[in-house]
Amino acid sequence: MSGSDIEKIVEELTSGANVQYATWHYLLTSLTATQKDFLRNEAVRVAKKHFGNGIYIRGLIEISSYCKNNCYYCGLRCSNSHAKRYRLSHEDILRCCHNGAESGFNTFVLQGGEDPVQNDEWIADIVEKIKKEFPDKAVTLSVGERSDDAYTAFRNAGADRYLLRHETRDEEHYATLHPQTMSAQNRRRCLFKLKELGFQTGSGMMIGSPGQTTEHLIADLQFLEELHPQMIGIGPFIPSTDTPFQNNAAGSVDNTILIVSLLRLRFPKALIPATTALSTLSEQGSERAILAGANVIMPNLSPIGVREKYSIYNNKKINGSESAQQLQLLQDKLNAIGYHINYARGDY
Ligand code: SAH
Ligand code: SF4
Repeated sequence: MSGSDIEKIVEELTSGANVQYATWHYLLTSLTATQKDFLRNEAVRVAKKHFGNGIYIRGLIEISSYCKNNCYYCGLRCSNSHAKRYRLSHEDILRCCHNGAESGFNTFVLQGGEDPVQNDEWIADIVEKIKKEFPDKAVTLSVGERSDDAYTAFRNAGADRYLLRHETRDEEHYATLHPQTMSAQNRRRCLFKLKELGFQTGSGMMIGSPGQTTEHLIADLQFLEELHPQMIGIGPFIPSTDTPFQNNAAGSVDNTILIVSLLRLRFPKALIPATTALSTLSEQGSERAILAGANVIMPNLSPIGVREKYSIYNNKKINGSESAQQLQLLQDKLNAIGYHINYARGDY
């Protein structure tokens, strides 16, 4: 393939039309290092065109490590008797929001396992309380698969955004990663409903999850083309002790970075975070993701005492932001690669 061929591929990626199967396949399997560099530079050019040199920050509040689900890859799965469990109260969460607001955050992301105590009503209540105290700030939920009625109640309470990765589009692959009580189909139902309700919706997948093939990844990319989510979160799979996949290899950082650049080119305006999983596996993970087109970072606003307990995978990197000093460190890190924090809400 010549230099002009890769330019043609970029044209196809950025045309707005669905990318051909053969192109996705080529991009995932056959690129040279030079071509990958070219794509990364193009992705950065596109990101800067839409977002300048600013990186949005979202304050992540990990509200519960209890989960009724049993996803085979996750350290919080209900069968993991070694998992350390905690749940935050409404008051705890509001305190995190206050700290975050003082540091300048304009988005709070409430993420947790599907905790039966933090039921639909409980979630709607805390959203309402946050919106009452901080009417101008965006509230993002990431609390799993719920009923249509629950999503409607969350929206009515004022929630703006929802993160729910589809994890893998392929039904059979999905069934090897989850028990039979969960299905790829229900995951998709939730995602389309969230979009229909007007949530800015985030989806995505783990890269290098056990058994994942190139064909599975292409199905994931094609699903994203169908859903067209406003946010796309991807991160490498990381083994988690005391789970069925504890001895599996982690996903590839390089592949994750490549796919970030492909996503930026295919979805120019999407909000794409430099994920914690990436910084967990690679010291320069956030910087590398930004230099491939990512435009969001999600520092941790959870109470310090619970952060280690929210152990989805091993050695989770904790990018705290409990103090102005910590945010200054992030600002310095971004400055070093020619970027800065954008404190705005950053809606799609
Ligand atoms: N319970 C919610 C939110 C918490 S899990 C949900 O499942 O949507 C958030 C994300 O962590 C999941 O979507 C999954 O993609 C990711 N995750 C779980 N286990 C992981 C692992 N072992 N390695 C990398 N990412 C993982
Ligand atoms: Fe629960 Fe989410 Fe972990 Fe699955 S990935 S076990 S739903 S916290």
